[in-house]
Amino acid sequence: MYQITINDIVVDVIRKDIKNMHLAVYPPSGRVRIAVPMRVDDEAIRLFTISKLGWIKRHQRKFKSQERIPIREFKERESHYFQGQRYLLRIHETTGAGRVELNGNTYLDIFIKPDASLAYKTNLLNEWYRSQLKEILPEMISHWERKMDLQVDFWGIKQMKTKWGSCNISQKRIWLNLELAKTPLACLEYVLVHEMVHFFERHHNDRFKALLDHYLPNWRQVKEELNRIPVSGG
Ligand SMILES: [Zn+2]
Repeated sequence: MYQITINDIVVDVIRKDIKNMHLAVYPPSGRVRIAVPMRVDDEAIRLFTISKLGWIKRHQRKFKSQERIPIREFKERESHYFQGQRYLLRIHETTGAGRVELNGNTYLDIFIKPDASLAYKTNLLNEWYRSQLKEILPEMISHWERKMDLQVDFWGIKQMKTKWGSCNISQKRIWLNLELAKTPLACLEYVLVHEMVHFFERHHNDRFKALLDHYLPNWRQVKEELNRIPVSGG
């Protein structure tokens, strides 16, 4: 194995008895490795890697942001996100039922018993996120049902580890990731419309993209933004 450097990116090169070059980016550091056939020269490796720089950087960014997901401990002034905005946590003691409130553009206030467990706090906040989505989504969904002239027969919110949304085309059913409560509204809307477009077209093909272009002309931009946000499910 040896290394080449391209635009500040160090690439581990491994020669193998294979037919095609194969590039991979590994978590958590974003290490880049390329496996190449025995007889390929360095110039060809360099050109191939350059042609994939966008892809490499996208993956490295993803791993970096994943690394940055802090574990929520519910400490005073901890950062929590709602609709793409950062709020600082303030903890208030209460003897009553736990509750969550936004205070202006700065604070997320959580009211809990002093001995509340981490699991209780996590659940309380998740249920608050869920209630916020449940308030927004009916109107957003009926707006797009009218616009797209179709009907969503069932929709739900759940925690998903690897996806922002999913759908069942024959049952006209849509699931949205609870984490979308934390992303900008445009991201929530993009995921919803994406899943609804699947009712017209199952695959992510040209027809699918043309439909998205028609309904959400800036979807690529929003998708990029969403790609930078790690799916954590936590
Ligand atoms: Zn899809």
